[in-house]
Amino acid sequence: MEQKNIWNKYDSETIDKVNVLADSYRAFLDNGKTERECIDQTVEMIEDAGYISLAKAIEEGRKLSVGDKVYYVHMNKSIAMFQIGTKPLTEGMNILGAHIDSPRIDIKQNPLYEDREFAYLDAHYYGGIKKYQWVALPLALHGVVVKKDMSTVIVNIGEDEDDPVFFISDILVHLAQEQMAKPAGKAISGEALDLIVGNRPIAEEPAKEEEEGAEKSEKEKGGPARDAVKKAVLEILKEQYNIEEEDFLSAELEIVPAGKSREAGLDRSMILGYGQDDRVCAFTSLKAMLDLGITEKTVCCLLVDKEEVGSVGATGMNSLFFENTVAELMELCGSYSELDLRRCLQHSCMLSSDVSAAFDPLYAGCFEPKNSAYFGHGIVLNKFTGRGGKSGSNDANAEYVAHLRSIFEKEDVSFQTAELGKVDVGGGGTIAYILARYGMNVIDSGVPVLSMHAPWEATSKIDVYEAYRGYIAFASDADLY
Ligand code: MN
Ligand code: MN
Repeated sequence: MEQKNIWNKYDSETIDKVNVLADSYRAFLDNGKTERECIDQTVEMIEDAGYISLAKAIEEGRKLSVGDKVYYVHMNKSIAMFQIGTKPLTEGMNILGAHIDSPRIDIKQNPLYEDREFAYLDAHYYGGIKKYQWVALPLALHGVVVKKDMSTVIVNIGEDEDDPVFFISDILVHLAQEQMAKPAGKAISGEALDLIVGNRPIAEEPAKEEEEGAEKSEKEKGGPARDAVKKAVLEILKEQYNIEEEDFLSAELEIVPAGKSREAGLDRSMILGYGQDDRVCAFTSLKAMLDLGITEKTVCCLLVDKEEVGSVGATGMNSLFFENTVAELMELCGSYSELDLRRCLQHSCMLSSDVSAAFDPLYAGCFEPKNSAYFGHGIVLNKFTGRGGKSGSNDANAEYVAHLRSIFEKEDVSFQTAELGKVDVGGGGTIAYILARYGMNVIDSGVPVLSMHAPWEATSKIDVYEAYRGYIAFASDADLY
């Protein structure tokens, strides 16, 4: 079946809207390079739109009714938001679920060391990265340092024009004979991904009158004092951020590419930016949620953490926080029972809104052209993901796919279908299979990305727009079973 480029389906007025959406999307990327930053800006956006926190609703003893909007933030890294529909919750919700964690490099708990007068932060990468892509480029440091008194220092260094940036070194090509002969996956070792954060030794205290026969200081011998660069870095951390060395123990600091997302191409048709997997689907899902009118089904938008490492932990999709939150919601709507909760979840429908691999002509051999996602062809439906023999995949039911086809056709949403590359060349997964455990209909649906998981990933503006329209059409539908 032929799938078409959709740029020319729209008039210039609509293309203006495409660009406006792309601009606000880029702002979302620039202000959200970590899960926490995404949560902060999401809460700001939805509170402006009339959402109230679930805790507040409970505290005030509110009863929720049609059109009410509530949200719950879990550990500052995951959020569930709901807009109450006209139908009872037992008839199920329409759920848009995306993730807001992205591949990156995390700082270790005991990170700061000095080697040959360079101060480093030792690191451990997060998620699936090609290590060679993260060296020799400007990097920023984002995150939190939580001190023993529970005060939190928010760190964001490297984004302002006036900020310093950081970097990971790579060996010059002249001396890289051995490195260049290695397979790409081994060219840079995991332990070689340490961040250079300083090179200037601390000024030494004036030398004291020394007793005769006392050992000469390093300085007198002509060398720098031990760890003088590390000491200087610690002094800066103390003065500028009130961080002590031991505070790294309870810090979450993420190394991400420094700088803002950009329009790409002479025609400005694309967006180049960090973290588009999966903030492109998080943003479009969130935006769709904010632009909904009154719906028949209750609509839920989930933005979760830890997808890139298997959806584990208290803030990943495998955590029960979502189920617990739906239970609280049902209670506030006056209809909680264990059975009603089960009914609500099983009768729900979900778009696991996550990115798809865009066809890359330079690596055409990795794709099967008839079943690939293309830039500019609209929102993607991935009936299944997984690898080799569909292993580990959520395979959406044909009846569900048929219904989505009819919704998209009714709303003139252009969609394409794809799978993740050629059979047996690799694979991957999303949060889809986790929600599917409740027995609900789930399908992967999102935006195609080029250079996925690279420091700078690319998307097409028109696909971002079409995903947003697709999410609105899905969320507004009342006939999904
Ligand atoms: Mn993803
Ligand atoms: Mn990913």
